Amino acid sequence: MCTCHEPHTPDRPERRRFLRLAGMTAAAVAAAPLLSNTALAATPAAAPTPKPQNQLAPDAALERLMQGNQRYVDGLTRRHDFLTEREALVSAQNPYAAVLGCADSRIAPEYAFDTARGDLFAVRVAGNLVTDDGLASLEYGVAVLGIPLLMVLGHEGCGAVEAGLKMARDGASYPGHIQGLAAAIAPSAQAVLEHKGDVLENAIAQNVRDNLKQLTERSSLLRDAIAEGRLKVVGGIYRLASGKVELIA
Ligand SMILES: [Zn+2]
Repeated sequence: MCTCHEPHTPDRPERRRFLRLAGMTAAAVAAAPLLSNTALAATPAAAPTPKPQNQLAPDAALERLMQGNQRYVDGLTRRHDFLTEREALVSAQNPYAAVLGCADSRIAPEYAFDTARGDLFAVRVAGNLVTDDGLASLEYGVAVLGIPLLMVLGHEGCGAVEAGLKMARDGASYPGHIQGLAAAIAPSAQAVLEHKGDVLENAIAQNVRDNLKQLTERSSLLRDAIAEGRLKVVGGIYRLASGKVELIA
């Protein structure tokens, strides 16, 4: 994932906008010490919109995302002209959706939703977990880029969730940092061990629901955006054979 298109320097314009925006939200108190006098004095600027068609209300963004998935399922994906898209996106970005998805190589969200460059803000980590850095990335997407839709996307046959399930059910342990990842997923698996149906399927869905909950519990910035109707947060499960994304409650 890349949130920038120029070298990371402390005073790049997007960072200044982010800090100004952070200063206007409920996170203002916490963010205030980070703000320079210049940033505080500056008038907030509207985020640039190189793709006007991406300026959508949350429900319209979800409809467009799912239409893209249907094209992908049907084998009718659009031809993307990367040459002109690159040029249009040199100065800024305004994606219409963010996806917190698994790192699994079979789940490339840009393909799954038939999106072009500048459309999808993708944060990926095995097990589609909300991590601190991932959450900061999503907050940036919502607060600075004005993204109206955020999907937590789990998938069928997720190895990370299976690792968490084996830990919860069988006491499995893993080498290196994988242990920590499995431990973060294990409570979701534990919660559905006694449920009817396929236990891995149930754990994958529960993991999506638990991470949706994490987003709003841990981020006042996202909570505020939802409360103000600027952001919709949804969960989905990607089916490996069909490519279909099913929305889950
Ligand atoms: Zn996975």
